[in-house]
Amino acid sequence: MAKTKKSDDNLMEKLVSLCKRRGFIFQSSEIYGGLNSFYDYGPLGVELKNNIKRLWWQEMVQRRDDVVGLDAAILMHSKTWEASGHLKSFTDPLVDCKKCKRRFRADHILVPTSAKPDLGTMKEKPKKMPTCPECGGELTAARQFNLMFKTFMGPVEDEGATVYLRPETAQGIFVNFKNVKDSMRLKLPFGIAQIGKSFRNEITPGNFIFRTREFEQMELEYFCEPKEAKKYYEYWLKNRFDWYVKALGIKKENLRRRSHTKDELAHYAAACSDVEYNFPFSDWSELEGIANRQDFDLKQHSKFSGQELDYTDEAGKKFIPYVIEPSAGVDRTLLTVLVDAYTEIEGGRTTTTESTKDLEVVMRFDKKVAPIKIAVLPLAKKENLTKAAKEIYDQLRQNWSCDYDAVSSIGRRYRRQDEIGTPYCVTIDFDSLEDKAVTVRDRDTMKQERIKIGEMGDYFAEKLK
Ligand code: ATP
Repeated sequence: MAKTKKSDDNLMEKLVSLCKRRGFIFQSSEIYGGLNSFYDYGPLGVELKNNIKRLWWQEMVQRRDDVVGLDAAILMHSKTWEASGHLKSFTDPLVDCKKCKRRFRADHILVPTSAKPDLGTMKEKPKKMPTCPECGGELTAARQFNLMFKTFMGPVEDEGATVYLRPETAQGIFVNFKNVKDSMRLKLPFGIAQIGKSFRNEITPGNFIFRTREFEQMELEYFCEPKEAKKYYEYWLKNRFDWYVKALGIKKENLRRRSHTKDELAHYAAACSDVEYNFPFSDWSELEGIANRQDFDLKQHSKFSGQELDYTDEAGKKFIPYVIEPSAGVDRTLLTVLVDAYTEIEGGRTTTTESTKDLEVVMRFDKKVAPIKIAVLPLAKKENLTKAAKEIYDQLRQNWSCDYDAVSSIGRRYRRQDEIGTPYCVTIDFDSLEDKAVTVRDRDTMKQERIKIGEMGDYFAEKLK
């Protein structure tokens, strides 16, 4: 029986180990002892990540008439961050333990929910100050810590040369609002979408790739008339929740929506909700935020740049549009996909002695996200078999990411593919040379079907569509 994830305290440990062993995710700079909270995506990880990003882009840009894409630079004019408010208030409250010297985000240890408190109140010591969660030592009062990474442009490291690594991709969209609107002759409502790296000097990164200092975001800024903002906010809330289920195959019961309470809302937001996932390390945590940011960003950039960032409607009326922002993290989504797919089968699924194992791991990825779609396996290392298998492999990989594996017993090879979530294995046996057919094995049902080699293209086009 497959164990349920939530009952497994070591799930994260097992996932981290599987990710390293099978080439999904490595610690960054590992040979030098690693760089805390930075990760590198290996050969399978990058396939998985690209699939997630492609599915988001298909849904949000490619299949819509009202959304266009953008790829803005990571470094932007420093005024951007003055206008957006990040320079002044993109801060988290930091507390130090006087005894063990560890650092914590005050809001994470003072408020035992995922709710964000009013940061202003964190500047003072609360009446009942908690002690260090690690050693029980006394904590300092909270002080505000800006999360933006700073660097310098050009050879002189003075204040005038300071630039910031963007902490979100959204501002690249707002500063290009006029460029995109005018060049594409867009009419409201319309959206601008972007996928790209963001950087935050998080005080307490952790839980593998859940919270890191370098990560990728997938953000949409959907501009509309102010009176329609509520309607589109509701629309995007539903659309985004459904995407995790339909496009990525995440189990619905592990997802929920949570509306922010009034005191959690940023001052510029009229409403905000999170799509949350039931992670093994923290119960429900944010996967994506959907916010009605009103006209705050365009107004601020208009004020700081002196440029008109308004919209003129058919009747000649000028106004600053409102914006609805669905903002998701690629890495957090990838972690969700991994956690949701991980399945252990005690005692194994096969009965043949050579492949029986105490514990079998199957990554039940949705076919659309699986890093490898088809594995091609010649039954034996005989030249005529491997030649035929190589030909089939070359044919299939024109359309799908495929793996070729001729090493060890067929049972072991099936296990290896199950562990990386490959939906289909194609086995070429001695009969294949005569009847020009192969055996296709399904990862989840383990059912085997005999398919004519000439019909394989159509067969997989249907199965993997
Ligand atoms: P949190 O409360 O977890 O710090 P946030 O509310 O600050 O998140 P947003 O600014 O709304 O996050 O960013 C949008 C999305 O970007 C998040 O829902 C998350 O998926 C992703 N994200 C934000 N910060 C990080 C991070 N440090 N590491 C990985 N992903 C992140």
